[in-house]
Amino acid sequence: MNVEFVAEPRGIRFRLLCFSQNSEKNWDSGQPCFSRSAPHMPELPEVETMVRGIRPHCQGRRIDAIEFPPCSRKPISVTPDRRSISTLAGQTLTRVDRLGKRAILELDSRSVLVVEPRMTGLLLVTAPPTTEHLRVIWHFRPAAEPHLADELMFWDRRGLGTLSLLTPDQYAGLQQRLGPDALKMTPADWQNRLASTGRPIKVALLDQTIAAGIGNLYASEILHRAGISPRRPAQNLSGPRIEKLNQAVRHVLTEAIRFEGSTLNDGTYRNALNQDGSFQNHHRVYDREGDVCPTCGQTTIRRIVQAQRSTFYCPSCQK
Ligand SMILES: [Zn+2]
Repeated sequence: MNVEFVAEPRGIRFRLLCFSQNSEKNWDSGQPCFSRSAPHMPELPEVETMVRGIRPHCQGRRIDAIEFPPCSRKPISVTPDRRSISTLAGQTLTRVDRLGKRAILELDSRSVLVVEPRMTGLLLVTAPPTTEHLRVIWHFRPAAEPHLADELMFWDRRGLGTLSLLTPDQYAGLQQRLGPDALKMTPADWQNRLASTGRPIKVALLDQTIAAGIGNLYASEILHRAGISPRRPAQNLSGPRIEKLNQAVRHVLTEAIRFEGSTLNDGTYRNALNQDGSFQNHHRVYDREGDVCPTCGQTTIRRIVQAQRSTFYCPSCQK
């Protein structure tokens, strides 16, 4: 196991390098190498960062071939099947976008390839962290501009990611099943969509049919910034609290995009160029149990479990 020291604003911390052979077992068993909470799966900021990273290389490019390299690991789910997707060669990627926590590759036939990174999936336009976990390669017709990549890759260590080819109707159906994008929600949207659920607000924020894109990490950060208790029933939020929630959603997600997402101690998430994000240096509560709250400077951050997931919060600042 390799260990390196990482300088963070809050002091020096260990980081275990999980890409070494020795730690392979940790990945496959689903156990993070060193973390007090579950592995962080890509949420809106991480997927948005991936999409912004690959878009200049992929949008408008003609696909020469789609390859599924041999992989001895747990295979990713491919819908309807690999053969159907391979027949997309010859088409052009007309749009690269994000839908909640999914990346969208639209083709000139208006069919859509939906890539869901789930736990450890990455979209890359540079050499991946390992070759044995490479799942899909889109080979493009070589570009005249030398700085553009000629391949897009989907890499997934644990193999929980999915690739789906959807018809325009199927894609419209998926859009309808999801709530509006979290960054496009308004205070009125939050009020309306939370009104019918008595679940705790933290749990409701994870429900992709209410708003799309928020996951476990950013839900804790958002509620801390909004000063809202994660236990508060969602339907009890009104007026100023709804306003604060909406502002906190925008602030936290926008800042996280600016810092290219969060790469935690498990080292899983990387941007399209196989580099760490840096928003983990700006987390105020996530995975900070026992630390002093950076807002009030007095109370220690607590961890509770809600719907089988860890929630981190400050009992003084969040009511
Ligand atoms: Zn506090």
